[in-house]
This record gives sequence, structure tokens and C-alpha cells, in this order.
Amino acid sequence: MDKRILVTHSSMPTLDEYVEEIKEMWETHWLTNMGVKHMQLEKNLAEYLGISKDNIALFVNGHLALECIIEALGLGKEKNQRGEYKDEVITTPFTFASTTHAIVRKNLKPIFCDIRPDNFTIDPAKLEALITDKTCAIIPVHVYGNLCDTENIQKVADQYGLKVIYDAAHAFAVEKDGKSSAFFGDASMYSFHATKVFHTIEGGAVCFKDAALKPRLNEWKNFGITGPETTEFVGGNAKMNEFAAAMGICNLRHLDDEIEKRRKVDQKYRERLTEVSGIQLDMPQNGVKHNYAYFPIIVDETVTGCSRDDIFDALDESGVGARKYFYPLTSMYHCYEGMFDSSKTPIALTISKRVLTLPIYADLSLEDVDRICDVVLSCVRN
Ligand SMILES: *Cc1c(COP(=O)(O)O)cnc(C)c1O
Repeated sequence: MDKRILVTHSSMPTLDEYVEEIKEMWETHWLTNMGVKHMQLEKNLAEYLGISKDNIALFVNGHLALECIIEALGLGKEKNQRGEYKDEVITTPFTFASTTHAIVRKNLKPIFCDIRPDNFTIDPAKLEALITDKTCAIIPVHVYGNLCDTENIQKVADQYGLKVIYDAAHAFAVEKDGKSSAFFGDASMYSFHATKVFHTIEGGAVCFKDAALKPRLNEWKNFGITGPETTEFVGGNAKMNEFAAAMGICNLRHLDDEIEKRRKVDQKYRERLTEVSGIQLDMPQNGVKHNYAYFPIIVDETVTGCSRDDIFDALDESGVGARKYFYPLTSMYHCYEGMFDSSKTPIALTISKRVLTLPIYADLSLEDVDRICDVVLSCVRN
């Protein structure tokens, strides 16, 4: 192949469209602190998601949005009958660093639950066994844009009085039965990082059920400052700037077209890789409008005769950058050495050793998809 194909390729508006969007800033000189572009994007996103703008807050990135909502919902602040802080959060190790790090950085304890083998989201049937009198919340992840079993997760949460925060970093523009993923649980965090389907270069948002949280979230992202001479609590700094918001305004205009182009790439992959023994594809979910954010394949070496790593290497040699996403499990990171036992989440462990995400983005040509599939199939058949 001529030029290297990376696993993703950030979408961008034309230079003219972006320049048009930022032009007025040379008159206003208002560059951050919830300016015109920030407020416009917040409104546009609320409309896109079908929610009120009182139920969304924008952030400088998804990770700090997650840390902020963890704090705003008071996780770990309540005590149980024995007078101990309820600081345990049930979550998945099959995710990006951010999910687990946010929990740990807020002085909470991640309790890892195994995932479902079909769509890699947390297995609700395994939640109950992990609940103790110290559990305060569940933080599941809509992995690859696959929606979690939100109904059964909510049932468990309601039964035990737990909060639910979704890491929806992969699930922007995903809908179930015509409703956006913003409606599940107490809150959902979206990432608008450059590698995501919709992006603001760096950015993120949190959508939440209780509109009363909004002022607190806005103060949190601005040092806890509540008035010109009052700072009521120890907040952070996590504001989205105007250039990022302007990028978001432009990108949102083209999002549905981009997703449609991704759908065609996804379809091409499926044509070539369905029914290849030993290669498992992500199963489409009933009633779900997907965003085609990722294209994971699960390689069973005992059937294919080649490992995930063999395919990764072969692709690399042909100029294709696939990604072992997510590998390793977050519970196996160096920084958590000796703290967690990954054999307690055997399905997540197996999947993490077998998974490879193939390049997918709106402008990936179908010829390139063919060539990528040729490389994958040449490994399998040798
Ligand atoms: C990208 C991502 C995040 C973090 O988002 P940032 O905007 O990069 O801070 C969190 N969780 C998952 C699963 C992600 O993929």
C-alpha cells in the first residue's frame, strides 16, 4: 500500500467553514469561559441528543467530565450502617484507562465485573454477586458504541439504591428505539476527542437526569467559583474553549453524513469477514442505530491457526495500523500491579488477548478495506 492507513483519521470541516465559524472571535476577543460558541454548541448538542440544554454540560475533555460527575453525584460520600464510607464502584476492566483512572483518582475503589462475550459490555447477571454494603455505584461502558443492557443494569441499581454513570465515550449518536444514549442511568459521559466519531479536537460532555446538577457542574469546571467574590468549593478547571466549540459546531453539521460513510465501510468489512471460521465480529444490536465508531474482530487462534498478534504484525508490515483495543485490561496496568485479579474476569481477559480493531473512518476507501481484508484473510488461510 502506498501510504500508511491508521486506525482512525479525524474528520474535519473545510478550512473555509471553520474560518467562517471562528471569524467573529477577532472582534469579540472572547476565547473561553463559556462564550458564544460554547453556548451554541451546548444548545446544538442538546437538540441532536433530544434532551434539554439544562441536562448537558460541556467539558475540556471526556475524562474530566467523568471525574466531575462522579463528584457531583456524591459517590463515596455516604456511609453505610457500619459507619464506613460506601466507596466501591462496580465497573468493567475492558475499557480505556480513563474509566478506571477516574474512579481511582476520586478515591473510590473499582470492583471489576466481567463482560458479555457477544458485545463486550458489562454482564448484568454478574453484578449482584459483587455488591456489598460499601457499593455506591455502577460505571459501565458502551464499548465500541454497543449499548449496555441498560434495562437490567437499572433493575439491579434500583434494587440496591446505586447510582449509574455510563461511560458513553464511544456512543455519541447511538440510539435505541429512536432515543439517544443520553437517556440512560443517572448520567452519561461523552468524549469529543479527535479520535471519536464526533469531536471538538479535545472535549467532552456529561448528560444527566437531574437538571439541578447543572449549576454545580458549571462551577466545578471553573474552580468552584460561584460569584465574583465567592469560591464555595474546591473545583477544578475543565472548561471547553471557543475554538474547540467552533470545531464541534462545524463537525456536528456533517456528522450524519460521516456516520453513513462509516456504515458503508462497516458493511464492506462484514461482507469480507463474516463466516470466516475463528473470526468473531461484533453483532448488530436489535433496535439500535449504531455510529460505526470501531470495527473490532476477535481472533480465535485455535481455529484460525494464527494469533491476533500475527494479524496485527502482518497488517503493520503492509502499512496498516490496527489497534489492540482494549489490551491489556485496565486491571492489569502497571500502576495497579498486585491490586486486582484478572482471572476473576475471565471473559474480559480472553477477549482482550484476542481483539483487534481495524481501521474505520468516513474517508477510508472501500478499496483500502478490501486490501486490509486481504491481509487478514491471508493470515487465516496460511
Ligand atoms: C476516549 C475515551 C475516554 C476519555 O475521553 P477523553 O475525551 O479523551 O478524555 C473515556 N473512556 C473511553 C472508553 C474512551 O474511549
